[in-house]
Amino acid sequence: MSKSFQSIHRGPSDFDMGEYIGSLRCEALRLAAVERYFVLPVYGILGDGNCACGRACGAAGKHPHGLVRHGVRGASREAQAIRWWLKREPAINLAVATGPSSVVVLDVDPRNGGSEALSDLVSHVGPLPDTRTTLTGGGGQHYWFTVEPIAWRWDDSDSYRLEDSPEVPGGKMGPGLDIQAAGRYVVVPPSRHASGSHYRWLDPAAPAVPAPEWLLTGLRHAARSTFRRPSNEERLCIRGP
Ligand SMILES: [Zn+2]
Repeated sequence: MSKSFQSIHRGPSDFDMGEYIGSLRCEALRLAAVERYFVLPVYGILGDGNCACGRACGAAGKHPHGLVRHGVRGASREAQAIRWWLKREPAINLAVATGPSSVVVLDVDPRNGGSEALSDLVSHVGPLPDTRTTLTGGGGQHYWFTVEPIAWRWDDSDSYRLEDSPEVPGGKMGPGLDIQAAGRYVVVPPSRHASGSHYRWLDPAAPAVPAPEWLLTGLRHAARSTFRRPSNEERLCIRGP
């Protein structure tokens, strides 16, 4: 058994490691087999609240585990792969790769102004549709929306693209308000947050509904403004000497 698991096992007494491992395994297999999501192992949170990667990484409990070589591209919905990860590291955190799972996730981070940005957005587009929602252990929310599988494809540079759009790994809709789309991932229940709380579903039975048009429009706009803006050097080249 790994060193990181031993460390996690010495966590607070109110944390039931056996229960966590059981529910994590169950949820990983369910998300892959029933929802057909591509799941990904990410580093767990140790009993002291630090990331199991053992470094001061700045993304505790949120970055791809060394069990997968190519980060988010190592996501899988094969039960055999999931069982192998959990045999090696039973107490990992779990994520879903959004692009291949045909979902986009509106990610609200209240610590960076996401709640205000969401209120502002809702005042323009109307209330968010009722859809699958994750409550992160840090006070944030993830709102899940489906997109057509045919809209996504790999391109030659290993990026996902919307077929009628520039590359859209995701983007910002406001401060603390991100869209996680192609090439990105979101941490899912029952993973542990650095705060010591767990991610959980607001309603485990709630399905994700199709992405509203304003979200796809925002995604395309974010892709253009975030990823298509020429650099200063490119601007100089365009203008000439
Ligand atoms: Zn880490």
